[in-house]
Amino acid sequence: MSSDKNAVMEHVANPFDSFIARLEEAAQIAKIDPQIVKILSHPKKEVRVSLPIMMDNGQIQVFEGYRVVHSTFLGPSKGGIRYAEQVNIDEVKALASWMSFKCAVANIPYGGAKGGITVDPKKLSKGELERLTKSYTVAMADVFGPDKDIPAPDVNTDGQIMSWLYDAFSKHVGQPTPAVVTGKPLELGGSKGRVEATGRGVMITALAALDKLGKNPASSTCAVQGFGNVGSISAKLLAQKGLRVVAISDVSGGYYNANGIDIEGAIAYAASNGRVLTGLKEATPISNEDLLELDVDLLVPAALEDQINADNAHKIKAKLIVEGANGPTSASADAILDEKGIMLVPDILANAGGVTVSYFEWAQNKSGYYWDLATVEQREDAIMHDAFNDVYQASVDHKCNMRLAAYIVAANRIGKGITLMGAF
Ligand code: NAD
Repeated sequence: MSSDKNAVMEHVANPFDSFIARLEEAAQIAKIDPQIVKILSHPKKEVRVSLPIMMDNGQIQVFEGYRVVHSTFLGPSKGGIRYAEQVNIDEVKALASWMSFKCAVANIPYGGAKGGITVDPKKLSKGELERLTKSYTVAMADVFGPDKDIPAPDVNTDGQIMSWLYDAFSKHVGQPTPAVVTGKPLELGGSKGRVEATGRGVMITALAALDKLGKNPASSTCAVQGFGNVGSISAKLLAQKGLRVVAISDVSGGYYNANGIDIEGAIAYAASNGRVLTGLKEATPISNEDLLELDVDLLVPAALEDQINADNAHKIKAKLIVEGANGPTSASADAILDEKGIMLVPDILANAGGVTVSYFEWAQNKSGYYWDLATVEQREDAIMHDAFNDVYQASVDHKCNMRLAAYIVAANRIGKGITLMGAF
């Protein structure tokens, strides 16, 4: 990429602008119809609600909630709900657009959406969190629906919050409607394999990419940033496949051991230590910044957005990056990584295992027939392998990196749907 283009990318701070910049670049490479690009550049629906909640102290506090439906061309829209203080409409728009593209890359029959509430859930009691979630659900009752728009967990939301959402929606429509939300606990119609699904997809795409690089997992090293659902399970499954996981990290910092960290032990330790790795023995503390710059075969960023950016991309030594998190690499870093010859499996491919098993949960809820774990894993593996191969082939055909190839695959699939349906 030219330095002029780098300069343009440097100005892309807004995550939705970053989506548009990558879409336009992919469209240029693959000669995608500008009419399709125009449609995909505009989310279908943006809803913003005020949520007045009676707090435990008797005072009303008003929260802001959002739901953005980016597209419904290939099916009902699908995407998680995030509770965080920095949630804003531009972030939700970008996340909704990535969901459309992620579902299209995985070739599952969904459009994309995302929602959020601007709140730090740790500051709320359990009762306040339940009232907030049910109030948000009722406010979005016309948006959500098992054949319209299906939410799921995302940052700071979990099976408990999905259970409250299921309850509020079911009461609103007057009948149990489990297929309105995924990521539910097993007791309420959740799917076997959902908890491990995203990490499993990261593991499958990482092994497929190592194979393309001619690397043997048993002699490869790995560093994982973030030790929550995605990071810890990715690390565990990669270690089971023979990789030596030399570094892990979480909000408490990074931990390094050149001989490899016992991941099962670290998971057990975090579980008994308030879900953080603070004080992990047999590992040297390192900073999260140093972890990203380790000389490893595989780097899995599985925590936050914009961790690999124009400031540190030139210092990355990993041969392969597999994005467990959504948006861990800024648009300005892509070109630097390309120039360094680093292969990158993008988020909309690498972490699509989660939405794939959410799709299985929805299909099981709609049919009322539940699958065993082996069936879930075998079907997830097949979808992830096909998605990886489709994106890899597009990168070969169009001589571009895997991120742009994933955008090309997705935009072509959604574009075909738009063309078949026609327009007003
Ligand atoms: P999580 O809350 O379970 O874990 C997040 C982890 O990041 C925690 O270990 C936390 O301590 C760590 N972290 C926070 N700040 C950090 C910092 N400054 N440095 C290093 N680590 C830090 O969340 P998750 O479900 O694992 O999601 C992680 C990412 O993966 C998010 O971007 C999310 O959108 C994405 N994702 C999750 C799923 C899923 O199924 N859970 C699916 C697709 C994408």
